[in-house]
Amino acid sequence: MTLDLVVIGLGPGGASTLYSAAKHGLKALGIDKRREIGVPIQCGELLPQPHTYKEILPKAKHLELLTSFPDNIIRNKARYVSLYSPKGVEYKDAFDTYIIDRSRYDKWLVSKAIEAGGDIWIGSTVHKLEKTSKGYRVLGRGRSGFFEVEAKVVVIAAGASSKLIEMVGLERESDEHNLGHVVQYVMAGVEADEDKIEMYSGRRYCPGAYAWIIPRGEGYANVGLGIRKPYVRKEDRDLPIIEFLHRFIYDHPVASKKLSMGKAISVIGGVVPVGPPLKSVGDNALLVGDSANQVIASLGAGVPTSVVAGSIAGETVAEYLSGDAELSEYERRWRREIGDAINNGYQLRLMIDTLCRSDTLMEQGLKIFGQEHMSDFVRTKVPAASKFLVWIEKIARTL
Ligand SMILES: Cc1cc2nc3c(=O)[nH]c(=O)nc-3n(C[C@H](O)[C@H](O)[C@H](O)COP(=O)(O)OP(=O)(O)OC[C@H]3O[C@@H](n4cnc5c(N)ncnc54)[C@H](O)[C@@H]3O)c2cc1C
Repeated sequence: MTLDLVVIGLGPGGASTLYSAAKHGLKALGIDKRREIGVPIQCGELLPQPHTYKEILPKAKHLELLTSFPDNIIRNKARYVSLYSPKGVEYKDAFDTYIIDRSRYDKWLVSKAIEAGGDIWIGSTVHKLEKTSKGYRVLGRGRSGFFEVEAKVVVIAAGASSKLIEMVGLERESDEHNLGHVVQYVMAGVEADEDKIEMYSGRRYCPGAYAWIIPRGEGYANVGLGIRKPYVRKEDRDLPIIEFLHRFIYDHPVASKKLSMGKAISVIGGVVPVGPPLKSVGDNALLVGDSANQVIASLGAGVPTSVVAGSIAGETVAEYLSGDAELSEYERRWRREIGDAINNGYQLRLMIDTLCRSDTLMEQGLKIFGQEHMSDFVRTKVPAASKFLVWIEKIARTL
């Protein structure tokens, strides 16, 4: 039997695709290599609160799965976001966020997909996609050996830079400027302000990216950082990424006061794509979420955008198979709903890249526009290019 759709990966992007496809009546199967959905948690677990979407994704219509999840998925709520300069100067803004339990959230998404009629296989890794006259043959290895399944359409929602992307004739992200390598501890016994998300800059700790303290509540926090390889200082080239995190925890003049008494109770690593969005439509194949770089690059945040894109993908595949739309509609639709936010995030990232080249530049840059534009940064609003040039000139004069 040929299925309508196989979705590879059941993170937020894939699970939302499966839910939407099943809701629209497709025979759809989601496959994930993980033995338990959502585990290990590879996420800071930060989500905007539902009322903020009208500011950050003002054109998005597919918000159901981001605004209707049960309360037991929420670990903590925070009202502020702060960004610290390399010397520890704080720039603070009011912005309402949830700190969620990502493992529960991913399971909730998958349970919604199952309720809608979707099927899932866990503990099953897809290794190969072969084009057939009807669509694709999906080959892999599961809990009871090798499997082979046929589908009219495949959706790759397998995370950043998956090799499967090339098997459907599309390009995956491989430029190190566009890949953030991240590491995160869950720490117990920290003295984090439970009402505030903290972001830190500085080449010694998080070259080309930022470090974070995200309070889970009751003395627990997600403490992590990203690095981008082209921004790592010469003397740190051989430093394992975990050592950047230890530096942040034990040496940072502000963060160490909150963290150094704490203990790590888990560690994860991962990759966040921070490049421009990739072409997301191939021959009977779509890319969703991190696989398509559908991330707000300036923040490294991809859950909301993946969920919106997945919801659109499932719906579009259903219309395509009933002859009511071209598959290429998917790219037009997600760009209409979340394209501005994703493009703005990338533009902001390019502006921040200039400051990431030196701590002096970052310090001066934040002094000049940090407080005034913290609110824009958090909401992914891009300042006019002319304004940016004025800032650069002001920064240059202070050096
Ligand atoms: C440390 C870290 C912190 C982050 N913090 C935040 C945050 O606070 N807020 C936010 O919005 N975003 C955050 N992000 C980004 C966010 O996690 C991603 O953008 C989001 O998970 C993308 O969802 P996705 O479904 O595209 O991919 P993923 O969540 O990566 O899911 C991909 C799934 O595909 C499966 N898979 C991969 N290959 C195969 C295969 N060959 N066969 C079968 N299954 C496969 C994997 O097991 C996985 O379950 C963070 C990322 C990291 C790494």
